[in-house]
This record gives sequence, structure tokens and C-alpha cells, in this order.
Amino acid sequence: MNSGWLRDTIRDFEPYRVPEIKEHTVINANESSYNALDFPAVKAEFQRYLKQTPTYHYPDPFAEKLRKALADYAGCQPGEVLVGNGGDEIISLVMNTFLNPGDTILVHTPTFDIYGIDASIVGAKVVEVPDLPGFRRDCDTFLTKVKELQPKVTVLCNPNNPTGEILPLKYVEAVLDASPNPVLIDEAYLEFSSQDSIISKLSEHKNLIVIRTLSKAFGMAGLRVGYGVAQADVIDALSLTKLVYNMNVFSQIMALSVMAHSDEVLQHNIPPTIAARTWFMEELRKIDSVTVYPSVTNFVLVHVPDGPALIQALHEADICVRFYQSAQLHNCIRISVTTQDVMERVAAVFRKELTHA
Ligand SMILES: *Cc1c(COP(=O)(O)O)cnc(C)c1O
Repeated sequence: MNSGWLRDTIRDFEPYRVPEIKEHTVINANESSYNALDFPAVKAEFQRYLKQTPTYHYPDPFAEKLRKALADYAGCQPGEVLVGNGGDEIISLVMNTFLNPGDTILVHTPTFDIYGIDASIVGAKVVEVPDLPGFRRDCDTFLTKVKELQPKVTVLCNPNNPTGEILPLKYVEAVLDASPNPVLIDEAYLEFSSQDSIISKLSEHKNLIVIRTLSKAFGMAGLRVGYGVAQADVIDALSLTKLVYNMNVFSQIMALSVMAHSDEVLQHNIPPTIAARTWFMEELRKIDSVTVYPSVTNFVLVHVPDGPALIQALHEADICVRFYQSAQLHNCIRISVTTQDVMERVAAVFRKELTHA
């Protein structure tokens, strides 16, 4: 194809290639290991909805019923929720809604790549504030940059992927107060932490946009259901460029079925994940050459002396994890936390490879 056909802002993009996964234990994408359809109550609810759902009708464009369920769960009003095809769609809507070519977005690094990618597509300039040593956010510099640059969009991933760190609500509010423009707080992993959502402060912050998802804590990554939370006029603005029928009926009724039993699902999924995370982190900390970064999420970031060797050893044990090649994350590996038996297998590989025990 003639590359001159491409929009200028994407000429340098590398084609998106998902590497072929050959291992059977796949813990590279922070997915849950719990199937939402394994809960009998969820399955019965879904089957009930399915009977009332013909395929020839278009879905409800704003998924009103689901919107209400998510608002109840998140502690806000239905008009303050926008349901998306994954949290990823909400990120893309934020960039499409607010950024002009040449505008600035501010992010900390390392973080989720999608913010920078979506901002670049619309021609915005991405300014990054690198973490301090130990992957602690450089809070002072970040806040100074918000004041100095007044970015058109500021992004704070909290808890952060891939580092696992969470910043207190007081700091998040300081960022919101310092910016005259929209601030995106990505809370995809909030359910694994013990901190309140910034949604509790929504009425005080006109510029707050929160991202949540059913992909992680609720184990629904394959269904693609996420949502944005903001004051109603911001939600209306984000809706301007949304695909009219962005959420198919199956995802809507499955999400409704899960949210009808959200307490049961979370009580089942979260405590064992946190227990396995705690055990795994303690176990790896016993190995001198491994640095384990604190995590309040369902994944753990570690630094090892020789990343490729460890990745090879994990591969031989039939385990696929996330390995980073960037300078900032050199020799870092992100491991999704699933069940205790899987974490024991991973820890055994680390021990064998790094202590020869
Ligand atoms: C997984 C994730 C999301 C959203 O994922 P979806 O599957 O699109 O809902 C958003 N932000 C971060 C940081 C994530 O890791």
C-alpha cells in the first residue's frame, strides 16, 4: 500500500502484532482466572436475559439498564456513567473529545501504553514524567508539570499498570485541583486495593473522568465492558463521538447478570487473589537478586538480573508472562496473580533459576 495514504500522525506506527503464545499457563495480561459463567446465579440470570433477547434488534445505544447497575455499584448517578467497549474505548473517547492536534497530554511513565497511542493518533504531544527509582511516582514533578503546562488532558493510572503502585486520594485531588482541564484517573485495578474510588469525590471535581472495567476483578475481559464516570455534562461530551451501537446485546446482558451478583463475584474472586499476591511477593523477596515492587493489584512487577534467561526458564515451565524491552523497564517482568497453585509454580521457577535451590 502507498504509505502516503496514511494519516500523518500514524506513519511511524508499528503494526500491532500479538505474539503467538505457545505456553499453556498464560499470566501476561492481568486477566482473572475466574469465569463469570461459573457462578450459577450469574449463569441463570444470563440465560433468563438471553430468552428475552432477539438478535434482530439493535442494542440500546446507552445501555441504560447496565448504566443504572454500574452507577449503583460505583456510587453515582446513571447520567454520570458511560458504558464502553472496554475501558479502552473510554480512553479513546477522552482523547477524541478533548484533544486538538498539537495539544499536550501529561502522563507518568511507565504506565499503560494506550493513553499515549490514542493521544498520538489525534496529533497530540505526549509529555512524560518518569517515575523515581523503585517505580514510585514522582508526585512533586508531576504536579508541577500540571501547573506549568496546563495539559489539555492529564492522565493518572491509579493503581498504576505495570508498577502496581497506588497514590492516595489526597494526591489525586491535588492534581484535579491543579488542572483547569480534564483529568483521567484510570481505576481499572481499584477492586484489588483497599482504597476508596475517587468517584466518592465526583461532585467536587468538574474535570474528573474515571475509568473502570469489568475485565479485571470481574473476569470479563472477553466480553469488553468498561465504563467512564464523570459529571453528566462531561459524559454528554464524551458521547458525542461514540459509535452509536458500541455495546452489543450479549455483552450488555452478561454485564447485567454479573452486576446483579457483584458482591458474590467479588467476594469469591478478590480475597484468594490478594492472598496469592501476598504469598508470592513474600516468596520472591526471599531471593536476594530479585527486586519486588509493592503492588495493590492482581499483578506483580519484578526486576531480575537476567530477564531473557528467566523468561526462557518460565517458557520451559509452560508459563507466559509479560517481559518488557524498554530502557526504563529493562529486565522487568510483570506477572499476573491468579491462583495459589500457579503462583507456586512461578515461584519455583524463580527459585530454581536464581538460587539453584
Ligand atoms: C486492562 C486495563 C484497562 C481496561 O481494559 P478493558 O479490557 O479495555 O476494559 C484500562 N486501563 C488499564 C491500566 C488496564 O490495565
